[in-house]
Amino acid sequence: MQHEAIVIGAGQAGLATAYYLARAGVDHLLLDDQPGPGGAWRHVWPSLTLFSTAGFSNLPGWPMPPHEGFPPASHVVDYLGAYEQRYRLPVERPVTVTRVERVGEQYLVHSAQRSWQAAQVVAATGTWRAPFVPTLPGSFSGRQWHSANYPGVEPFRGTRVAVVGGANSGAQIAAELTEVAQVTWYTRHPPRWMPDDVDGRVLFQRNRERALAIGRGEPDPGADSELGDIVVLPPVRRARDSGALRATPMVTSLDEVEADHLIWCTGYRPALRPVRHLVKDGQPLHPGLHLVGYGDWAGPGSATITGVGPHAKRAAHAVAEALGYPVPGRPTGQAQMPKS
Ligand code: FAD
Repeated sequence: MQHEAIVIGAGQAGLATAYYLARAGVDHLLLDDQPGPGGAWRHVWPSLTLFSTAGFSNLPGWPMPPHEGFPPASHVVDYLGAYEQRYRLPVERPVTVTRVERVGEQYLVHSAQRSWQAAQVVAATGTWRAPFVPTLPGSFSGRQWHSANYPGVEPFRGTRVAVVGGANSGAQIAAELTEVAQVTWYTRHPPRWMPDDVDGRVLFQRNRERALAIGRGEPDPGADSELGDIVVLPPVRRARDSGALRATPMVTSLDEVEADHLIWCTGYRPALRPVRHLVKDGQPLHPGLHLVGYGDWAGPGSATITGVGPHAKRAAHAVAEALGYPVPGRPTGQAQMPKS
């Protein structure tokens, strides 16, 4: 099968890119390995809520429907499903892309059963398939988990739990576990709490300023480290203020961890497996391959719902220009060649 463009991954980054591809008139197909819409939001732990309100969690074109307080992941899954339908985005699932090959000026996109050909490929495969666990000396005899497969508090009731990681997922998981388990929360540095009256929207605004500055060719103004990085959601605040949630300096060896369970809240890496050989130092090696989402190295804020828009737009417009389509905001007939 041949298309002008193939988008791998139909999470928020893939959908936002497809929205702009459709507007530019580009013939495209999205391939996603999940059984239904929602991307990584299908896999977060049961109690997870966004760290900002619905009004600050919008994809291009159509805002997230309102929700009282901080929306749960199911609200995002519903939104992404409705977004796909609203714009009739052509998603095929479940399809796992195993490898992308460069053949002449084209790309061949392979799954175990089929192949597709396209001149333009957008990788929007996110990070949840590549949980990161640091290597430490020593050994741990209990059960190890990652926040990617943390199932909620039930298996931990009445046990000793070590939670590693000083960012939002570590704080949230450790906070809720303090109600049912004996928790030791290991962090590499003292927790950097954001002010209690500030939520994720401040981070989003900062990311947007950074993305716009980079888009204008100006230096990246950088993250605002003074502000802190843990959003103090109500359950986190309760656990912190009651004294139940306290940080302990990180161990240097697993032998020091005395617990029944160890939960790594140590983040993710880009899930680039099908295109890894086509990417060097975070940059595509050939024209026609684009990376959207993934967080800072692919663009400030690009791993957030509201922040991915400008990055998706830039990638979709680069695709459209390379294919010779007029791009909104550029004079017709002056399509640029893709950057090599
Ligand atoms: P994904 O949602 O992961 O979508 C990628 C899709 O591609 C998935 O369906 C994946 O299964 C699929 N895929 C991967 N590899 C292949 C392959 N080889 N073939 C086919 N399909 C493939 N952001 C916010 O804006 N607000 C928040 O409050 C917020 N809270 C967060 C809390 C946590 C704990 C985490 C982990 C993230 C949070 N984020 C938040 C960040 C962000 O919104 C998510 O990480 C988001 O899911 C990234 O979207 P994406 O489309 O880039 O990737």
